[in-house]
Amino acid sequence: MSAPATAAAKSSLPPGPAPPPALAGLPCRFIAEPDVDPGLLPGPCDAVREFTPGADLAADAWLAGCGPQPGAPVVFVTRRALRTARCASVFGFASRRARAAVVSLAGLESGGGAQARRRLAAIASHELGHLAGYRHCRTPGCLMRPAESVEDLDSRRLEFCPACRRRRRWPLAALLLALCLAASLSLDAAIERIRNRTQVFSWRLSGTDTVLVLDGEPLLRLRNPAQAQAAAEALNSLYASMTPPPLRLDSSDGELRIAAGGQPVIPMNWVETGGVPPEAFARRWIERLDPLIQGKGTAQQGCPSCHVNRRGEVLDAMARRSRWWR
Ligand SMILES: [Zn+2]
Ligand SMILES: [Zn+2]
Repeated sequence: MSAPATAAAKSSLPPGPAPPPALAGLPCRFIAEPDVDPGLLPGPCDAVREFTPGADLAADAWLAGCGPQPGAPVVFVTRRALRTARCASVFGFASRRARAAVVSLAGLESGGGAQARRRLAAIASHELGHLAGYRHCRTPGCLMRPAESVEDLDSRRLEFCPACRRRRRWPLAALLLALCLAASLSLDAAIERIRNRTQVFSWRLSGTDTVLVLDGEPLLRLRNPAQAQAAAEALNSLYASMTPPPLRLDSSDGELRIAAGGQPVIPMNWVETGGVPPEAFARRWIERLDPLIQGKGTAQQGCPSCHVNRRGEVLDAMARRSRWWR
């Protein structure tokens, strides 16, 4: 009976190559030696060829000489016994560099064809697991548990246990990286929190005035935002310092300014004094602000040398002094 015309019209594209077979969800292809019964392979045979003369096969050395296999990982199937440099007898061996594994039917054919086929599938899946990055697992019945006997092969499922799948999703390196990232982010957040607690001076526009503020309280009127920004930064830096130098009036080069530790903090030609002579204004302002910058708190109010704990005290003092420029 021919297929309906609609189905034929739908598949106008020529059929592509068939996808490679998969064992335990991992794609692979099989290359077998001529004496291997194709009916025992867990998937279609891609090629038949003799691997090497000799009664047995040094799996590790032989795969090392194979070179990286193109396409889906290759499972070479042989009836010769396998050994490696470290082990006199193995069911199979995988090389990630060669993108290939070699598995043996030796000793698997005792229980008949169906059983041999399932045992071969268990070994091939285990080796494909190694090629896909799975490591050995101790969970009973897991595909990645190292098999010590044929009975061991018969008792296992042909799938990865939940722990194996989790480990593969979160390999150790990725887990460490994630932990480092989390630690770095939380450190950043902590630094940001401390920084925010020491960035107490800021500025705002109030009508036509540019006003320096300390937690909402207006402190000083300045001529423009750039000056207010610079003044706020200089005062924040003093506030964040454990041992800030005292605020002083400085006019050493003929320019009047508020300074600290020889560094200018606010030049008085930036400041709107509201008609008060600049020198008198500056002296009064320093007299008010310096005790707050220096922190004269008692042990009960917080650590006297710690500016972060002093903040409540500064704000209390601010609340008692309302208009700074009058
Ligand atoms: Zn293994
Ligand atoms: Zn497992």
